[in-house]
Amino acid sequence: MLWLQGLILSAALTSLAIAQDAQQDQQATRLMEKVGAPSQFVMNTFKSSGMLGVKPHTLTGEERQKIKAALAALPPLDRRVLLDRLDDLSFIDGIPGEGTGLTSPGAHHGHYNITLRASIIDESLSTFLTTKERRDFTSDDSGITVTVKGQGTDALHYVLLHESTHVVDQTCRVTFTAHSKFVEGIWKEAHTLDAPWNTGPLNETFFRTHKPLEIQKASAVYGALSNSPFVSLYATSASAEDFAELVAWDEVRHMNGHLVIELTDRHGAVLKQWQPLTFPGVVKRFEYVDEFLANPASFKACAAYKT
Ligand SMILES: [Zn+2]
Repeated sequence: MLWLQGLILSAALTSLAIAQDAQQDQQATRLMEKVGAPSQFVMNTFKSSGMLGVKPHTLTGEERQKIKAALAALPPLDRRVLLDRLDDLSFIDGIPGEGTGLTSPGAHHGHYNITLRASIIDESLSTFLTTKERRDFTSDDSGITVTVKGQGTDALHYVLLHESTHVVDQTCRVTFTAHSKFVEGIWKEAHTLDAPWNTGPLNETFFRTHKPLEIQKASAVYGALSNSPFVSLYATSASAEDFAELVAWDEVRHMNGHLVIELTDRHGAVLKQWQPLTFPGVVKRFEYVDEFLANPASFKACAAYKT
């Protein structure tokens, strides 16, 4: 009897997995209907912020396949919220520098557009993260540089995780809820850190001052990060970025991913290394993310998203 029960159970689990895969695929197919050329509204938003050279990107069949796979790999909550709240997901060429794109309000209240730099579709996560991180420091004669290694997924999936979490946050009011465990003791207001995070090296970075920091201070900065609740320096810029970074990296962690920040000398020898996904203050908050994704209705504004 036992082996028969075992067989029935494994057959039931297999059919559950097939049903989940089918739902994932169906939701990703429906989300792909939102993928296309940016609306005039989106183009005007970019142009009015001074990005005059932006152009709509025409996606190839292969690029559309990659986007669909990345959408299917989002957490179920993100997919459901995007189906309800996303107007457009579009890709553009000509974003100056290493900009990524943005999540912006849609034409109707409570709706959003996600617009991304098209070249991220073919970018590795390590290239994406390193380029972004190096902007935060000024180099000197020492030849010391920062390199970020991200494993477990690619830039497109990571960026979609981050941006879709902004839509989830706006919808569920996660970082906008007083005493939310994602902000209490860390954020006083959306852009104002609480004590003790409002003093020390983490306040000297590009994300707090908008000025690149000397590379010689990088070691002290990452040392402070390792004793903080933040998974990245970018997470210190605002409570919404903190939450988006935390959810994105928790998902990458669940895919057996890794994040390593290294300082190397002019010969490429590693001087110091940090692994933010293992920082104690971050690991504790990953538990909050898992609880939230399993039960988003714990936030009143997302009562409709029962699991
Ligand atoms: Zn963001």
